[in-house]
Amino acid sequence: MSGPEVTIDLGRIERNARTVVSRCAGAGITVFGVTKGMCGMPQVARAMLRGGVAGLGESRFENIRRLRESGITAPVMLLRSPPIARAEEVVRTVDISLQSELAVIREVSRIAERLGRVHDIMLMVDLGDLREGIWPSELLPTVEQILEMKGVRIAGIGTNLGCFGAIMPTEENLGQLVAHAYKIERLAGISLDYISGGASSSLQLLLDGTLPAGINNLRVGEAILQGGIETFREKPWDGLEFDACRLTADVIEVKKKPSRPIGKSGYDAFGNQPYFPDEGDRLRAIANIGREDVMVEGLTPIDRGVRVLGASSDHLLLDVTDAEAPVAVGDRVAFRMGYGAMLLAMTSEYVEKVPMHDVEIAPRRRMVQIVADPGAAVVLARQRVGARLEAIDYDVVTPGDDARLPAGLLRLSAGEDRGVALPALAAIVRETHSLGLIRFDSKACLGTERAADGSVAPDSVLSQALGLMDGEGALQPQLSPENVVLVGLREASPAEAAVLKASRVTVMTMADIDALGMGEVMRQALRIAANGTTGFHVSYSPEVTEIPGWIEGSGGMTVRETHLAMEAVALAGGMLSMDVSGLTATLDERVAAETVSFVMSSFGKRIL
Ligand SMILES: *Cc1c(COP(=O)(O)O)cnc(C)c1O
Repeated sequence: MSGPEVTIDLGRIERNARTVVSRCAGAGITVFGVTKGMCGMPQVARAMLRGGVAGLGESRFENIRRLRESGITAPVMLLRSPPIARAEEVVRTVDISLQSELAVIREVSRIAERLGRVHDIMLMVDLGDLREGIWPSELLPTVEQILEMKGVRIAGIGTNLGCFGAIMPTEENLGQLVAHAYKIERLAGISLDYISGGASSSLQLLLDGTLPAGINNLRVGEAILQGGIETFREKPWDGLEFDACRLTADVIEVKKKPSRPIGKSGYDAFGNQPYFPDEGDRLRAIANIGREDVMVEGLTPIDRGVRVLGASSDHLLLDVTDAEAPVAVGDRVAFRMGYGAMLLAMTSEYVEKVPMHDVEIAPRRRMVQIVADPGAAVVLARQRVGARLEAIDYDVVTPGDDARLPAGLLRLSAGEDRGVALPALAAIVRETHSLGLIRFDSKACLGTERAADGSVAPDSVLSQALGLMDGEGALQPQLSPENVVLVGLREASPAEAAVLKASRVTVMTMADIDALGMGEVMRQALRIAANGTTGFHVSYSPEVTEIPGWIEGSGGMTVRETHLAMEAVALAGGMLSMDVSGLTATLDERVAAETVSFVMSSFGKRIL
């Protein structure tokens, strides 16, 4: 990996969400998880949903579209009042929107009515922070006018504090919110689903036991995403974990230099006249990130003894003289980010975003379990697969009664036809909560017919795994289409092509391999399969490769390209299991030898 990167630990986000949600539940409060700090990244939203949030809060339509397109159906709350021109998008894409202007509400209502719907709104009340919100004295007259509109329903009222005016939520101002809510209920004769008492900053009142009764909803971003480093500045909430998001960059220079610049002083690249105290000669490092990517003032080095000196557009200057672990060129330095720094890093196109799960240290000696049907077992034995895996440092274990694998154990499933992929995937799905799939196959395997006896034809394995047949036997939610990549496809029926277009599966055809090269194709495939998952399964069908003397002229991947792809798999790490099909007892010896050597490559066999 090279270049600046934000790594996002989805495990921490999930646990933080769970901590916030369960504390709130005790007080009768539902939580909407706010994803705007992470640009509505679907993996982050899913982690929050696993942690138990009742819905998601987002302020931008682009982010909401990203959430919806990734298949998330949870309730979404639009946090920022929309421009009038986008009223239709509000009605169509979100379940509830925060509103404070009659003109906008009127238009939303008009469009909702036209679409035959009723759109839920939350009226925002300004309690002194002076950002959005209806002034309290205007509240009742506004409510009365909204009650005349047929396309909207006042589902709740809410407030926003600590954003613009830096006004803290208190027992007093949130008490006022509850009083306004009760007054509306009484005078307008409606009942409100939500009395939404603000954002992360209101959690302190909850912990102190001073959050007014009646508040039944909060919209929480920072506390979940950053463990509350800004919200609980003074008194951290021990239950939350920091560093779910870290920024890392490469060290590109380390040199001892004086601490004061030499020569006549002028202005720096940003029009400032900086001052540098004289600390004598210091060891300085440069990291490849700068003001174009991140708000440098919001960075805190994670390694002890590293200090940020400043930055220009592309260079971050660090003092590493007192670093506990020596810093060298080629190392990566890691930073915790403030909210502002995180927002900028997430929106910079120069910073790679890498969602991942708690990274575990792999055991030194690797273990592999081989599962083969009778025909394939003959081929594996002839090719001495067990002995060859042992030669590259694997312990080969035979399948026991216990179907569960110890952590870090890989499984190789071999079968006579493509059907082998299903039990192989089903087994690994039982052992993880999310995984990706890279399929090397000439065929799409997206048939939708079941045999009369209910069994699945080998040409339909992918449909079944993704729940595209009739839902039965689907491997979701662990296997999600957005983490599935088909490599080397060259045959798909019109029906299969239509299914592929409508799904979120990524396809890398032979044309893509020709155009991009195998290296780039695998880089993309591995990123997609590993994105937010605990690892991935690899499926290989020998028909994807054009093996000289066997199916020549097929236009498939070359032997060299196949090795390259499998080596990329091994190099990336993260393969959880693999299946290989087409191994029949009568298979041509050379094809068997070639196929097994591809498998060896994916398990890490190198020429040198
Ligand atoms: C951003 C936002 C939130 C979440 O704020 P955090 O401090 O990240 O918890 C809640 N409500 C509204 C209206 C927001 O814009």
